[in-house]
Amino acid sequence: MELTRELLSEWISRFSDKIQNNKDYLSDLDSAIGDGDHGNNMARGVQAVKESLEKNENADVPQILKLTAMALISKVGGASGPLYGTAFLEMAKAGNDTKDLGELLQKALSGIEKRGGAQPGDKTMVDVWNKVIKKAADSSLTGQDVEAAVESTRDMVAKKGRASYLGERSVGHLDPGAVSSGYLFEALLETEESL
Ligand code: ADP
Ligand code: MG
Repeated sequence: MELTRELLSEWISRFSDKIQNNKDYLSDLDSAIGDGDHGNNMARGVQAVKESLEKNENADVPQILKLTAMALISKVGGASGPLYGTAFLEMAKAGNDTKDLGELLQKALSGIEKRGGAQPGDKTMVDVWNKVIKKAADSSLTGQDVEAAVESTRDMVAKKGRASYLGERSVGHLDPGAVSSGYLFEALLETEESL
């Protein structure tokens, strides 16, 4: 699947809406195993993305990806900002050579893993990315796939980020960054269906 300008704009817009609509839920999840700011962090970020993209309405795909990355890095605060920012920045860099969504998402995931040092099973957003990007790229992803990937973090022991301070006590709770990444991929699959 090709990452067109239309797909990217709609994807980001749907992701922003999901973050705004679930801001309190994301922060509640973060209160259980972190510091309770994930929803507010992400909502601030997507608002900044929206403003930046409105100011640059003629941006092409790599430029939109870069503007998104910059807004997230500068406005999210917390560990998730640089991680989501890195994901979009890696896609922006690779986006000059390819528009293949599968390749771009793989670059994004590699960037997140390199930046944060988390591996699959560590109870982070990586667990969702790792499980869904192949299917997202060939349009075979379903809502149930995303839900299962998010849900898989519930029984994991957190090994990275603030939740890792809780060790075994992090078991039984969803990872907030996995949930927000779930929104990112639900937004993508809804966009793929709508275009
Ligand atoms: P902070 O933990 O600094 O308060 P947030 O609450 O915004 O930042 O984001 C927390 C989320 O970030 C976690 O739920 C997890 O998914 C993700 N995260 C934290 N550290 C890492 C890491 N090293 N690698 C991947 N994801 C991480
Ligand atoms: Mg937090």
